[in-house]
Amino acid sequence: MTGCIAVVGAGQAGLQVALGLRALGYDGRVVLVGAEPELPYQRPPLSKGFLAGTVPVEELELRDASYLGEQRIELVLGRSVVEASVGDSGGELRLDDGTTLAFDGLALATGANARRLPVPGADLPGVLGLRSVADAERLRAGLADASDVVVVGGGFVGLEVAATARAQGKRVTVVEAADRLLARVAAAPFSAHVRAWHEAQGTTVLTGRTVAALAGSGRVGGVVLGDGHLLPADLVVAGVGAAPVTDLATALGLRVEHGIVTDPSGRTSHPRVVAVGDCTVQPHPHDPGRLLGVESVNNAVEQASAAAAVLLGLDPGPRGVPWFWSNQGELKLQLAGISDGHDTHVVRGDGQDGRLTVLYYRAGRLVAADVAGNPRDFNAVKDALARGCTIDPDAAVDTAVPLKTLVSAVREPASLA
Ligand SMILES: Cc1cc2nc3c(=O)[nH]c(=O)nc-3n(C[C@H](O)[C@H](O)[C@H](O)COP(=O)(O)OP(=O)(O)OC[C@H]3O[C@@H](n4cnc5c(N)ncnc54)[C@H](O)[C@@H]3O)c2cc1C
Repeated sequence: MTGCIAVVGAGQAGLQVALGLRALGYDGRVVLVGAEPELPYQRPPLSKGFLAGTVPVEELELRDASYLGEQRIELVLGRSVVEASVGDSGGELRLDDGTTLAFDGLALATGANARRLPVPGADLPGVLGLRSVADAERLRAGLADASDVVVVGGGFVGLEVAATARAQGKRVTVVEAADRLLARVAAAPFSAHVRAWHEAQGTTVLTGRTVAALAGSGRVGGVVLGDGHLLPADLVVAGVGAAPVTDLATALGLRVEHGIVTDPSGRTSHPRVVAVGDCTVQPHPHDPGRLLGVESVNNAVEQASAAAAVLLGLDPGPRGVPWFWSNQGELKLQLAGISDGHDTHVVRGDGQDGRLTVLYYRAGRLVAADVAGNPRDFNAVKDALARGCTIDPDAAVDTAVPLKTLVSAVREPASLA
């Protein structure tokens, strides 16, 4: 026994494993290895306040160095783990400076990499992705000089960047291949509400359009669409999703299917290794035969806290209701539960007052909601899901009735919100 738990990846999830171990009374060494040079920081502001220049870099830090010192969390920053091995009684990591670290337990919290655009011209200067603080600094500098910004991808990160760029007076176009924004996560009325908000700000939204190439000599000058149309652009942002980082997991022989396969508490196929956060895929809450990646701060924090318990042989307890938020300028979106797999939905409100709620049902039971501009609805749904309750879909459409008064018990407990 080495008396050491190693955590690879010093992001939101990795830090939470380390803090969770201490909170649960683990007294051995906790070593947190992170490839980025910064102290563990939060990513959500990178596409919002930090990009806009209203949130300074110091405010991104999740915990300051002195607190981590008090917690005896050993930080090895700016170093990557390049090799790992594990057996029945423990294992060893090798870092990119040649040093090695023996461990009893291992947490993989390696996150995800921003996907690059798979088209000619994607490596031209002026074509940027967004995942790290270094990316956000490059993007912020690029925005300062840009006039025509094209955001490829109408998901949360792309739309947040679009809102930030538009608020700075840039001409902004969002190009989305699907026939509506947020198609992967939201029902059509919610997509339409989000689109209407962006268009009201003056952003051009093109859906059902693919990108064939990025044009320019020396620097990006335009985006060539699949139909041959050329959009002028002096800055292109790729908001086309992220790919889980799984190379170490594969080398360790863990089960990997797109992400590292875990249970909701981070257990992998090896008893000494947990994996947490964006690098993982978990059983789908409504269809356990399928796997689902849940890229959110809430998942990173909850799965990591549970995984710390697993590493110590403790009961991680039940998981809470999954939730997510996205701020796109004044547009405040909140999502509770997992809507994927719903069979019906109910729309509450018409969005005219900025508020719209979509409730999702599966087999007659509430499973999720997407909420715009209405924290009360969000809290009511989150509460209902946490208590295994439902909300009468017919009554929910009446916006004069507060949603929380409609929360009612169901006969058997819900499997997972
Ligand atoms: C721009 C942006 C905006 C977002 N906005 C929201 C939001 O509004 N709401 C929300 O809920 N979520 C949001 N998210 C998602 C949320 O930030 C992520 O779900 C969360 O950061 C995941 O944490 P993680 O620790 O799993 O991964 P990460 O934060 O990616 O951390 C992984 C770390 O592991 C390191 N690493 C990888 N491989 C190695 C190795 N071999 N050795 C050492 N280190 C390694 C990486 O360098 C990285 O620092 C946003 C994400 C982005 C990028």
